[in-house]
Order: sequence, then C-alpha cells, then structure tokens
Amino acid sequence: MSFSRKAVLTIAGNPLVTRFVSKYGLKLGASRFVAGETLDEAVDIVKKLNEEGLVVTLDLLGESVTTEEEARQATDAILAIFDAIAQSGVHSNVSVKLTQLGLDISYDFCLENMHRIAAKAKEKSNFVRIDMEDSPRVQQTIDLFKTLVNEYGKEHVGLVIQSYLYRSESDVKELGEMGVNLRIVKGAYKEPKDVAFPDKKDVDENYLKLVAMHLKNGCYTAIATHDENIINWTKQFVKENNIPDDLYEFQMLYGVRNGLQRQLVAEGYKVRVYTPFGKDWYPYFTRRIAERPANALFVLKSFFKD
Ligand code: FAD
Repeated sequence: MSFSRKAVLTIAGNPLVTRFVSKYGLKLGASRFVAGETLDEAVDIVKKLNEEGLVVTLDLLGESVTTEEEARQATDAILAIFDAIAQSGVHSNVSVKLTQLGLDISYDFCLENMHRIAAKAKEKSNFVRIDMEDSPRVQQTIDLFKTLVNEYGKEHVGLVIQSYLYRSESDVKELGEMGVNLRIVKGAYKEPKDVAFPDKKDVDENYLKLVAMHLKNGCYTAIATHDENIINWTKQFVKENNIPDDLYEFQMLYGVRNGLQRQLVAEGYKVRVYTPFGKDWYPYFTRRIAERPANALFVLKSFFKD
C-alpha cells in the first residue's frame, strides 16, 4: 500500500474525522461519488444520467453485515430498488455485494436472500450483478452465482471476475462454457502474492486476455475500467473480430472520468455508470479518495464553491 493511500485511510479512520465527514460529507463533496442517501435521490440522478445517454447499475451502499436482521433489511431495500426502477421507467439494473446479504453469517442464508433478489430481477425483466469481494469469498460467490444462473437465467443474473487473481483465467473458461454475462475488473482488494499478480503489468495483461476469451466465446462482457489503454484496445479488438455491439458495454464508477464516459457515448458505445447510494457511504467514499488522493481536491473545491 502506498504511503499516500495509507495516510488517507488512517486519517479517514480517525473518529473525529469520521464524525465530521459523516455529518457534512455529502455537502463537502462526497456527492461527487455517491448519488445521495435515499432511493428517491438516486433515481433522480439515474434520470439525469439517462438523459445524457448513459445507463446505470445502482448499488445500495453497505458491506460486511454481521446480523441476520441487517441482511434482511438490505435484501428488502434492494427489492425496493427494482420496484422503483420499474415505476420510474429509468434504464438501470442493480449490483449487490454478498457480504451485505449475509454471506459471512451463512452461505444458505445468503442464498435465500439472493433467491428473493434474483426472482425479483426476473419478475421485473431486469438484471442483478453480483460484485466480487476479497479472495476468501470468491469460491462461495461463484458457487452461489451458478445456482442462481441455472434457476433464473443469464439474462437476469451476472457476475464479476477480477483480473488480478491467478484463478480467473480458468474461471472465465468455465463460466464461458455456461455462456454467462461477466463484468471484468482489475480487482480492488489487497491480496497476497500467492493468489494475485503483484505487478500491475500482469494484472493489465490478464485483463485483456480475459476480455478476449469471453468475447470470443460469444458471451456478454462488461469492460469495467477507467484505463484508457484497455478501453482503446477493446475498441480495436471488437472491430477486428466483428464482435456485435450488443455483446459488450463499458462500465465506470459514478463521478470518475466523467468526460471519458460521455465521450464514449458520443462515439456510439454503450456505457453503464456504477452508481452507489445510501446512508453507509463513508467507507466507499474514503476508498475512492485513497485510490487517487488528487480526488480530495475535488472535495475541497466544492466546499469553497458553496
Ligand atoms: P487503474 O489502472 O487503477 O486506473 C486507470 C486510470 O483510471 C488511472 O490512471 C486514473 O486516471 C483513473 N482512475 C482510476 N480510479 C480512479 C478514481 N477513483 N478517481 C479518479 N480516477 C481514477 N472491484 C472489485 O474487486 N469487485 C467488483 O465487483 C468491482 N466492481 C467494479 C465496477 C465498476 C463499474 C468499476 C469501474 C470498477 C469496479 N471495481 C470492482 C474496481 C476495480 O477492481 C478497480 O479497483 C478500479 O476500477 C480501478 O481500476 P481501473 O481499472 O480503473 O484501472
């Protein structure tokens, strides 16, 4: 972990800072990365993004839930997102994290919650994507995904694969045989050398390999990155291999590389914005600042603007 990243995370963990930022943070500029605290606020933002030609995946913030009650509340809140999308007619699907839905409590309990969510996605002709978390949870996440996709279909349930993991190549091969919809990311967690490539160069190379494999298998692929080299490579790859436009999309995070998101839309590409909302925004927000400490400048600028 770099010094600046560590410093940001240490400052962010200070109780006084946590209290102050949690109270005033959205006004202070966290709203650059978080689409409000309520579902209504988030839907308003989805409408605006849709008007600009962007589609969305909504994410209810919250992670590492430890009680069944919290996991059930999160499940109910996610079901409500599907209803709100259907009622408002916005173009959005939903992304979820299994630790928010009780994976750390028990696999079966989490599966039960995910059955409700996947059934709702299908009922509303929508789609739920299961985010990938840290490496000790990968196998359970894949197992749970396979169960759901067999029952509800690949049009309604998708998964994320991380290019920093050594195992991902064989996972993409196996999942490709099932024809499922994958989002490929580099990976956001701190992983040991025995499970993940330590060098960025290898992570990037593996990223391209996984995207190429999945597209050549004829499977829907979401290329989720802000890395312009990868985006440009993908544009070339789809052209040279006659990959149809309805087999892939680009994805980026809300508030990150806004100009690039709109530029791709203007060029005719499908771009989906991962848009998180909810009261539990503090850990997500500090990770975005830690990823790129220059982001703290946006926060300060918006403070002085108001
Ligand atoms: P990097 O090489 O990290 O960055 C490339 C360039 O992008 C940088 O030079 C910089 O200019 C820009 N950039 C990157 N991050 C930021 C930022 N925060 N602010 C401003 N500029 C930035 N990870 C998981 O482990 N599991 C998931 O389920 C998951 N889902 C994701 C969904 C989406 C839609 C996206 C975009 C990412 C997701 N991630 C997930 C995170 C991902 O793994 C990376 O940590 C993150 O995308 C940063 O890597 P990068 O591909 O953008 O490339």
